[in-house]
Amino acid sequence: MFQKGLAAFLLLLFACATDTPEHETHTPSSSLVQKAPFTKLIIHAAFAPGMEPPETMIEVVEDSIQALIQKPEGVSVERFEELDPAQPKEEWALEELDQLVDQVSASTPQDTSTQHVYVLFLDGTLTEPSRAGGTRLGFAWGSDRIVIFRQAILDLCQSLTFSTEEEQKRKKACQIAGTEVWIHELGHLLGLVDNGLPMQVDHKDPDHGHHDMDPACVMYWAKDKELLIDEVKSRIEAGKDDSAWFCDHCQEDVLAAQQTED
Ligand SMILES: [Zn+2]
Ligand SMILES: [Zn+2]
Repeated sequence: MFQKGLAAFLLLLFACATDTPEHETHTPSSSLVQKAPFTKLIIHAAFAPGMEPPETMIEVVEDSIQALIQKPEGVSVERFEELDPAQPKEEWALEELDQLVDQVSASTPQDTSTQHVYVLFLDGTLTEPSRAGGTRLGFAWGSDRIVIFRQAILDLCQSLTFSTEEEQKRKKACQIAGTEVWIHELGHLLGLVDNGLPMQVDHKDPDHGHHDMDPACVMYWAKDKELLIDEVKSRIEAGKDDSAWFCDHCQEDVLAAQQTED
């Protein structure tokens, strides 16, 4: 009896320390990684004033996703500039974010060969807190939507301390962190890890939902949490200033899904 109670208690503790529930709302569509019938992917970036992602980040995201899925007519990021309400907000409920995405999608011309993904760049964070890893820096939900809490990322990376070339390194940290959060969330929509794309070998972190077990992989669970910022700092101090990308296992899962196309 006692042992059973203890086991239940430990299970509860364990459940609280993990991070699984946040991606359960995903309904990924495997057609995002496939080359037909949608030959082109447009990522619509909509932002509150001052939250615009820099051009360098946009280019890295376009190149990273195209390198992974190789759409015949490419992957491009397009800016949408009339987000309303544009007011800064501390906390966002998912329904409010859906309304913002609806504004963007309503003015998006649809055709039979293009797929669309919507990315919001905002102040604040989600009303639902992250269960581990500190402030949530990004979130993906549904089949085609992402929010990136750009101000939260900027606040964290701009307060990092470096012993030399501080301004330059902070800027680099902001760029790497912002890029990795964005690519991580896109990876979720594409069906990684084991979230629509069948795994060719097991690389799913048993404790953290649809994430890769490898900390160097962009699909590692901490990549969209406050924890990411210190990890980026350590990498910059070690002289590494590239953004993390998809590990071999993630790439294999995408490739396998593409090979099952008719
Ligand atoms: Zn994630
Ligand atoms: Zn891996």
